[in-house]
Amino acid sequence: MERVRVLELYSGIGGMHQALRASGIPSEVVVAVDVNTVANDVYMQNFPTTPLWPKTIEGISLKEFDRLSFDMILMSPPCQPFTRIGRQGDISDPRTRSFLYILDILPRLTKLPKYILLENVKGFETSTARDELIRTLEKCEYTYQEFLLSPTCLGIPNSRLRYFLIARLQSEPFTFQVPGRILTDFPSLDPANSRKFEGSICLKEFHSLVSSKDSASGSNDNGRQCPQKEDFLYKLETAEELERKQQQDNDLSLQMLKDFLQDDGEELSQFFLPPKSLLRYAFLLDIVTPSCRRSTCFTKGYGHYVEGTGSVLQMAEDIQLESVFKFFEALSEEEKLLKLSTLKLRYFTPREIANLHGFPPEFGFPDKVTIKQRYRLLGNSLNVQVVAKLILLLVG
Ligand code: SAH
Repeated sequence: MERVRVLELYSGIGGMHQALRASGIPSEVVVAVDVNTVANDVYMQNFPTTPLWPKTIEGISLKEFDRLSFDMILMSPPCQPFTRIGRQGDISDPRTRSFLYILDILPRLTKLPKYILLENVKGFETSTARDELIRTLEKCEYTYQEFLLSPTCLGIPNSRLRYFLIARLQSEPFTFQVPGRILTDFPSLDPANSRKFEGSICLKEFHSLVSSKDSASGSNDNGRQCPQKEDFLYKLETAEELERKQQQDNDLSLQMLKDFLQDDGEELSQFFLPPKSLLRYAFLLDIVTPSCRRSTCFTKGYGHYVEGTGSVLQMAEDIQLESVFKFFEALSEEEKLLKLSTLKLRYFTPREIANLHGFPPEFGFPDKVTIKQRYRLLGNSLNVQVVAKLILLLVG
């Protein structure tokens, strides 16, 4: 098989490139494009031989695109215009301009790329930008399938529900294609091994998200309802939420978090939650232990903003959360802190988030990239295993 020539747009720290490698298909990234200089430093350290253009996509001419003669586009357009916390400006948001530019260029290329894969946040599927994309693909006679998938579909204990579209330049449909429907789990190509579709953990996550209203804070892309005060148990958590968490922790098709944690010598003390955050946000934290089989979506504010940006890790596994939070309100600040500190709560390290995202052990950050920047870049990135599997479906 000839090497597939790949154009990686909005390359960030190279999640798409990692996925391409993980897919094992013979390929070469002919150019990666991104304007973020910090992301580009990380990309260059990890893919030193890949040409990286540090410029805006709108600044690349049709002629330049044509010269690259690529067979595949992998892209993650900026998601803020479509997120719940973003202003949802959709195509009127200036950040969508580069994407519309790509849609304008595509039909005019001398050679249409055979394969396209796009990743975005949940919410993109109802945007005008998505409709424009579909219109362009249909005009160019691509076959396509849309997905809403989370790493939990692959047994990875992290929720990160994302929109994906794969498109191939061919007239016949994909074998797994379901016209007019978004797939919420990976299709099984081998019917003998097919998982029970309706009961899949990924589908459950999808339903729990779509059935919930937007939370008031809006900063959580794991979707929550807004229950009344009397509905809460000892923590700001309803019986329903607690049950869902327990169910997930008992689902043996998911790995335990401990498989993704660092056991090398990195100085972990800097990742413990400062007392101020503990006191202020204790009730809002999603707390998990190493033997849990779940974690909430890590977003770019992780380690900085506490609420809804991702789970925190309880290192003292033997302590029951309930024993800490029962009758908590009656305690003095000092007593509260004392109780909370017994949990030994810390943030997941950037390396651990990279592990959950499926980045290989050799992936690294340049020393000068701060912890906050690492969280930010990882929060914008993607799950490598999920995309690798989609690339295989696309090319297969
Ligand atoms: N998939 C990437 C992250 C994508 S986030 C990863 O694995 O890291 C979106 C990226 O698009 C950001 O890095 C941002 O810097 C870049 N970007 C946004 N608008 C752009 C534009 N007009 N031209 C080039 N890059 C852009």
